[in-house]
Amino acid sequence: MSATQPKALMSIDVEDWFQVENLRSAITKESWPQREFRAERNTDLILEILRQNNTKATFFILAWCAEKAPQIVRRIHAEGHEIASHGYGHDLVYNLTHEQFREDIRKSKSLIEDITGERVLGYRAPNFSITDWAIEILMELGFRYDSSLFPTMAHDRYGKLTTFKIQDAPVFELRDGFYQVLLSCLPLLGKNFPWAGGGYFRLIPYPVFQRGVARILAGRGTYCFYIHPWEFDPGQPRVKNVKASNRFRHYNNLARTEARYRQLVADFRFEPIRNALPPL
Ligand SMILES: [Zn+2]
Repeated sequence: MSATQPKALMSIDVEDWFQVENLRSAITKESWPQREFRAERNTDLILEILRQNNTKATFFILAWCAEKAPQIVRRIHAEGHEIASHGYGHDLVYNLTHEQFREDIRKSKSLIEDITGERVLGYRAPNFSITDWAIEILMELGFRYDSSLFPTMAHDRYGKLTTFKIQDAPVFELRDGFYQVLLSCLPLLGKNFPWAGGGYFRLIPYPVFQRGVARILAGRGTYCFYIHPWEFDPGQPRVKNVKASNRFRHYNNLARTEARYRQLVADFRFEPIRNALPPL
């Protein structure tokens, strides 16, 4: 495929503060319905920033949230963004059986498609926990791409695809007609550092992060960013009984996200992920 123009891809994983893996040890799934639902207004803030910058993005929506507040999905869709799937229950893919994964994905896809009336093409695994056998199931259920892979070993929970080779392009055909859109890393001192957003975006000073994005765009031709609505929300309830490292990953610099994100979206011309795929 031709990738003449550098492409900066924007993605948002829509889930709420009580659904993240870092807090899983302290928050049971059974308690989700009783937790304060803050994803709607945090997603609205992101929509407002994107609107002000005339930017379209891809929203990977956790269907649990879509079921609870379908108006969020309708609003995102009405503003012309791409709607994609983040599954239903936010379990790590490699911990599920094939049948459990198929059921989670089937349910999430049809729930979202019923709201928008449009086919969902893209999937992102919770915590990037993708694994080989899941690709077959995504293809079987009509997906066209997965965007769950970091070309790095830097995180204990990230998944792997055995067929991936480090020389693969940022967007490449993984199987016949099915694509992988990599999350971006920055090569530094012989290692690949995750440079795609989330906790790393909150940790690294913005001018440094910005230069890294520019370097990736110049070198690889494509850059893919992700963020969550709860990362814009320093007022979210604080959960105490979790490991210090997980607490840090979740809460570090939440108050800085909004200003940094406004800067990022102003500094680069972002597009939805579907724009990086060859035409159907
Ligand atoms: Zn997630």
